[in-house]
Amino acid sequence: MNTAYIILGVVFLLWIAGSLYRRQKNRNKVISVVESNCSGCLRCVKRCTHHVLEMKENETGKRATVKHPDRCTACGDCLGKCRFRALRLIERV
Ligand code: SF4
Ligand code: SF4
Repeated sequence: MNTAYIILGVVFLLWIAGSLYRRQKNRNKVISVVESNCSGCLRCVKRCTHHVLEMKENETGKRATVKHPDRCTACGDCLGKCRFRALRLIERV
């Protein structure tokens, strides 16, 4: 039983360390949308709890766009939701 707790504790600590490492690595980055790849599926908009992204209509249909770049923490949560490689983290200017 104690071994299971130790393993769980180690996994939890590794998860925390991974999160801190990603945050540090991406601290100067912000999300960007490659509109030509975007299908307008909305998955990234729903995933972002900081409301950074929104849908915008253009001549080809609805596409994701970055509305509040200042709110982006570069957490990467939305990246995993995009099946079309339409999202990337870029350096802040
Ligand atoms: S990287 Fe995180 S904060 Fe930035 S848009 Fe994606 S989910 Fe939102
Ligand atoms: S998840 Fe990808 S394809 Fe879907 S709206 Fe967002 S950027 Fe566009």
